[in-house]
Amino acid sequence: MVRRWHPLARLAVFALLYPALVWIGRKLCFPSVHAAPVWFPSGLVLAALLVTRLRHWPVVALAAIALGTLSPHPNQPWWLTLLSSTCGALEGVLGAFLMRRFVGHRTDLHRVRDVIGLVTLAAGVSALLTSQLAVGLRSLAKPDAWEQYGRTWEVVWLSDAMGILVLTPLLLIWLQDCKDWPSRRRWELGALVLVLGLASDAIFSVKLSEQWTFHPLIYLAFPFILWAALRFEGHGTTAATLILSAVAIWHTDRDLGPFARPEPGVPPSVRASSSEDPENGTPSLFLLQSFLGAISISGMLLAAALGERRRAQLKVSALNQELRQSLDILAKTQSELVARERMAALGELAATMAHEVRNPLGAIANCVSTLRRLPSQRSSPPEQELLGIMSEEVQRLDALIHGLLDFARPAQPQPRPEPLQPLVEEALSAALRSQNTGVPITVRRQVAPGLPPALVDAQQLHMALSNLFTNALQAMPVGGDLQIRIEHEQGAGASRLRLSISDTGVGMTPETQQRIFEPFFTTRAQGTGLGLPIVRRIIESHSGDVAVESAPGLGTTFTVRLPCD
Ligand code: ADP
Ligand code: MG
Repeated sequence: MVRRWHPLARLAVFALLYPALVWIGRKLCFPSVHAAPVWFPSGLVLAALLVTRLRHWPVVALAAIALGTLSPHPNQPWWLTLLSSTCGALEGVLGAFLMRRFVGHRTDLHRVRDVIGLVTLAAGVSALLTSQLAVGLRSLAKPDAWEQYGRTWEVVWLSDAMGILVLTPLLLIWLQDCKDWPSRRRWELGALVLVLGLASDAIFSVKLSEQWTFHPLIYLAFPFILWAALRFEGHGTTAATLILSAVAIWHTDRDLGPFARPEPGVPPSVRASSSEDPENGTPSLFLLQSFLGAISISGMLLAAALGERRRAQLKVSALNQELRQSLDILAKTQSELVARERMAALGELAATMAHEVRNPLGAIANCVSTLRRLPSQRSSPPEQELLGIMSEEVQRLDALIHGLLDFARPAQPQPRPEPLQPLVEEALSAALRSQNTGVPITVRRQVAPGLPPALVDAQQLHMALSNLFTNALQAMPVGGDLQIRIEHEQGAGASRLRLSISDTGVGMTPETQQRIFEPFFTTRAQGTGLGLPIVRRIIESHSGDVAVESAPGLGTTFTVRLPCD
């Protein structure tokens, strides 16, 4: 999310936050070592550099130096504050560089690798080197401080490292990734924050006697970090670590809780002002830092590992679903292919037979019509009737053979721009002529104005449409309404003409609908079952499609989509 902010807006937020965090850090400072348990500005600078483009790094670094120098330390000369701020900026730049170089450009800390990179490269290498430099420079101003160099450097390093471990993940995770949690989960997070706040206050506000060197109370913090990591991953862990750190530092600074090591009889106010005593406060500070570091690192690693596992599971289930879909499509395509191959072989055989049968059939038809015209046969009704039946059957066989040849030896369409409505009217007239049953049929037309011409082979389309009209008329044996609708359909990149032919006939059951495009499927005694397979083949060879909607007793609508000019 923060990446979408304008760079100046980001800089403004940085400029507001940085002095506030410096102020908080100075308030928490243990005077003996001039270091706070957690130096939040380190975390802010690193987070800012990680979410900023490489070419904007100098701006962030200069802003950090300027803002640090403008918040002078009361006990330090200005040049020392400038050097310390420069070391702070350098720490961020080095940390961000090492992270980008060895961990990658992803900065959302959602992988275990990111967390390990943050801990070792930023909080480890970078903070360690630059804190040595900072403490060395500080010792230049106060030569007697060299004696304390080792201890001071250790505390300053841990202080910067804690800033990086507590604040950087919090900013990176909460600012860059807003999850759509269900409201129940949000309430749970609220409950966690509340309970953790109260529990950590109870843990760290106890006043312990001297006999405890390491109090088991601190272990009570771990269940909360586990809860946060298990249920809320990075978001929960970083928030919980911040709350725990704030409460722990607040109470430890007041010599309360498991990490307080007060000198017997010395009140906190006196301890705080005795800044020259190098021993004061350091052990408790070190223990507190170690505890917070352990909590933060274990929580983040657990959260990242859980997040990685969850994302891997999601990926696997998505892949599984994709695989299942692909297998379904494959099985369907395979069965279609097998059916098509079988039909192609069957069609080829049928076409060969049809070809062979056509000539003798023509001869039989001629003979039958010659016989019917003979004067001796005309006077004999039984013979006439038998000849009539033969003639009808010969016609039926002829229609079947024509259909077979049309279906099995399809000609390649030669599409040309043709106005669709005249073609539709011709096909309708042909169907009405052939089905001249005398039942009342009302034809309604609904044609959109300004239709572009269709790209079709007129002859082939005539065959397809007359099949559809013939079927519609056959489905209305006692008459009905036939509605024709032509519209222009403009979808994503494709422009098409949509022709719907609706009848109010007998309709079809879902089982019949599933089979109507199968060759030789028919429910009519006189049917061949080749009409609709021919329709589909012709429409598909024009890069169009045909669909059907039907309800038994209510009627049927065939919708044909054709390409247009
Ligand atoms: P045929 O007309 O020779 O039966 P078709 O392939 O044209 O073969 O049609 C297959 C089957 O589809 C028909 O037998 C019929 O059951 C069904 N059918 C097709 N069109 C319609 C329609 N408009 N109304 C109801 N049923 C239809
Ligand atoms: Mg038919």
